[in-house]
This record gives sequence, C-alpha cells and structure tokens, in this order.
Amino acid sequence: MNEIPQPVTILGSTGSIGQSTLDVIRRHRDKYAVYGLTAKSSVDDMFAQCVEFTPEIAVMRDEESAVALATRLKQAGSRTRVAGGLQALIEVAGSDDSRIVMAAIVGGAGLAPTLAAAVAGKRILLANKEALVMSGALFMQALEKSGAVLLPIDSEHNAIYQCLANGSQEHARGIRRVWLTASGGPLLRTPVDELGRVTPDEACAHPNWKMGRKISIDSATMMNKGLELIEACWLFGVPKTQIEIVIHPQSIVHSMVEYIDGSTVAQLGNPDMRTPIAHGLSWPDRITSGVNGLDPVEAGRLDFEAVDYARFPCLGLARQVAGTTQSASIVLNAGNEVAVQAFLDELIRFTDIPLVIESVLERTGSHEVRTIEDVFALDAEAREYSREALKRFGGAA
Ligand code: NAD
Ligand code: MG
Repeated sequence: MNEIPQPVTILGSTGSIGQSTLDVIRRHRDKYAVYGLTAKSSVDDMFAQCVEFTPEIAVMRDEESAVALATRLKQAGSRTRVAGGLQALIEVAGSDDSRIVMAAIVGGAGLAPTLAAAVAGKRILLANKEALVMSGALFMQALEKSGAVLLPIDSEHNAIYQCLANGSQEHARGIRRVWLTASGGPLLRTPVDELGRVTPDEACAHPNWKMGRKISIDSATMMNKGLELIEACWLFGVPKTQIEIVIHPQSIVHSMVEYIDGSTVAQLGNPDMRTPIAHGLSWPDRITSGVNGLDPVEAGRLDFEAVDYARFPCLGLARQVAGTTQSASIVLNAGNEVAVQAFLDELIRFTDIPLVIESVLERTGSHEVRTIEDVFALDAEAREYSREALKRFGGAA
C-alpha cells in the first residue's frame, strides 16, 4: 500500500532532540516528509538539514541568521523558503500544512510556538518540558479544545505512557504510584563539599545520555527530575504525593507504574532518545528507530537507590512547588533558566544555582495566572529578579 508521507515540523531541529528526530525520519522517508525546520541561530547546521531534507520552510528565530541562511540556500539553488523571528516561528508551528509537530526548543522560548501547535490541533511530540511547567492548565485546556494529541517524548513520560496500556485512557485505572527513574547525573558520587568547584564541562558530562547543555546541567542538579515531576502531574493527572523519584544509575528502566493489585509495569530500553521519538511519530503503530533492543544479559544488573535530597536541593525546591500554584512553577523555571545559564557562563558556582532559585521564589510571591500574557509577564519579572539575585553571588548577567 502506498502511504502519503505525513508532514512533520521540528521546532528546534538543530538541537540534540531535533537531530535525533531527523535521524528517525531519515529511516522512514516513505512515511514522513519534513515540512518545517526551526532553530535559533545555527546557520551551518540548518543549511545542511535543508539540503538533506528539503523542507518547505526554515525559520530562524534570529533575524540576521535568517538572512544569512536565505542567501546560502539561494546560492545552492534550494527551493526552501526562509523566514525569521518569533512570529514566523509561531506561524510555522500552527501551519495547516503539517500534521505532526516535534516541540524540541529548549526552555521557555519554546512555549509560544508549542502552544500554537496545541491550539492548531496538531499531533504534538513534546520534548520541551519547560512549556508544560510554565503553562500546565492553559496548555492542557488548549489541547482539549482543539483535539490535539500529545505524545510525551521525555523518556520517563514516554515510558509511563507506554506503561498505561500505551496511552489507552480506558486502562489507566487503579494506579497506586508512578515511579520516575533518575540516573542521578554525573555528580551522583562527587563529595558534597566538592560540588562548589565543579566546572560546566564536568557537570555536562552525563554518564548515559548525550543532550543539550541546559538539560545536562538540570540533570546534574536534578532540577530536571523536578521539572519532570511537575510535567508528570499535568500529563497523567496524578498528584505529586503519588509520584516517587528513585535513582537508577543505568538509565535502562525509563519509569514504572505501580497498580493497586501489586503489579508494577516498567518500560525498559537502551538510553537513546530515538526510541521515544519513534514511538511518538508512529503511535499507536511501531516503527524502527535505529536503537538496538536491550540485551538483559549484557545489561547485567539494574540498581535502585533512594534520592539524597541534601545533595540535590534543586529537586527539593521543585517538589515543594509541584502541585501548588502555576505562578510558583513559572518562577521556579525562570530562576532555574537564568541560574543555569549563569553557571554555564561561569558567573556563579554550581552550588549557587539552588540559592538563586530559592531567593527568587521567596521574592516573587504568588500571582494570579489566567492567560498566556500573565505567564509571559510573570516569567519576565522572575527573570529580572533572578538576574538581580545573581549579583549577590558574584555574577552579573
Ligand atoms: P539543545 O540545546 O540541544 O537544542 C535546542 C534547540 O532549540 C536548538 O535547535 C536551538 O537552535 C533551539 N533554540 C534554542 N533557543 C531558542 C530560542 N530562544 N528560540 C528558538 N529556538 C531556540 O536542547 P535539547 O537537549 O535538544 O533539548 C530540547 C528540549 O527537549 C528541552 O526542553 C529538553 O528539556 C527536552 N529534552 C531533551 C532530552 C535530550 O536527550 N536532549 C531528553 C528529554 C527532554
Ligand atoms: Mg527525562
């Protein structure tokens, strides 16, 4: 049977998740066609992707990068249209010409385009967890109103989805607990009194996953697991009291769901994001992803241990915030993004990250958040407070 390839847009195509998505699509050109690609400013990578995948449109968030890309593509005889700026990013995300949108921009910058895809009723493959953390209720309402389908790409949430009878709501009953697994990151065994001297490269050296630098730092602080806790509450409608976090250094069990009859269902696999990406693209079918199946004998053992919250204060902050107000989640995320960037820029120490976030949470207080404009206004205010807080830790951004 000849299928018509489904048009796909990738928001953040030059990043780690974006490239993995293109790698899966490369294996299934008969099933998927690239409609739109977007990036911030990496012209060289985007040029190469446009030459290989011939999208209808490429959008650069940075306008000057869009001009540079357009010039190069024209010289190369490409027919891909180029656009620049935020409005173009939002338009491509909601375009009638694509059906599937991979949301893989990092941080709050992904919220507006991801929401546009939700409003337009797309099949959304959600990697950009910060968007959901910042706007949970509004985002879920937009999905419901438009009939958009959301497939979680974060490996833990994709695992939980699969453990809930592969997304079948009918079978998602009788849950006692959800177990979110966490590798513990590269600093799991570093003596706590040495954490203040950790460099950005050391903190980015994740033992199991190769990811962008922001999420790599989040994994080292375990804020990533905190954001995932909030993400899980929204995606699965489970309160935080029913979500346990457990350290599993091998990253083979991607998460588990425990039912009231004593069954625990887990999803296992080699740590490679192409598996959840392939799942999201093809659900409810399955396609190959390029990832080898797990050999349990080779894996040998699966270890689990309790989280030491004293070592990972960012996770404690996120646990406090989860399930409270939308405004607290926005402030937590904004403080984290500013602090992580300041650490990557070597303006503050690794151990200052939770201190910056805590001070911003204390200063900002609770705000009513009803509209997306409220989300952006509070996000901007919290970022401003975070930059002021940086100065107290020796960093000026
Ligand atoms: P990355 O830094 O490798 O890539 C980010 C992409 O977003 C790039 O294409 C970049 O050009 C684009 N971008 C950055 N800032 C932008 C801006 N202001 N406006 C428009 N585009 C912008 O990040 P990543 O590791 O691929 O992560 C992407 C998202 O997926 C994050 O939200 C992360 O938490 C989530 N995620 C990643 C992984 C992983 O394995 N990398 C796993 C789970 C979840
Ligand atoms: Mg994850």
